[in-house]
Amino acid sequence: MANHVEIADGQCKGCRLCIENCPTHSLVQGSQLNKSGYQYAKFEQHGCTACGFCYYMCPEPGAITVIKDDGKGGA
Ligand code: SF4
Ligand code: SF4
Repeated sequence: MANHVEIADGQCKGCRLCIENCPTHSLVQGSQLNKSGYQYAKFEQHGCTACGFCYYMCPEPGAITVIKDDGKGGA
């Protein structure tokens, strides 16, 4: 599977730090609200390099998980 990021919707506070600091513009702010009323970030694959910037920028522990390409190919 290609590099990707999982966002735990319920943990996100919609601060946009991950979105603004992603060098590949692979994160966007969704239009839906989570249970706390925040427009949570969503991952869109635009060549994510698994650099981890989003993870390190996020003030919410557990909101972002970066998954690096396992090298096996496929979806
Ligand atoms: S790991 Fe890097 S490239 Fe991938 S979404 Fe996060 S900041 Fe963007
Ligand atoms: S940095 Fe964290 S809390 Fe802020 S929008 Fe991104 S996932 Fe949500």
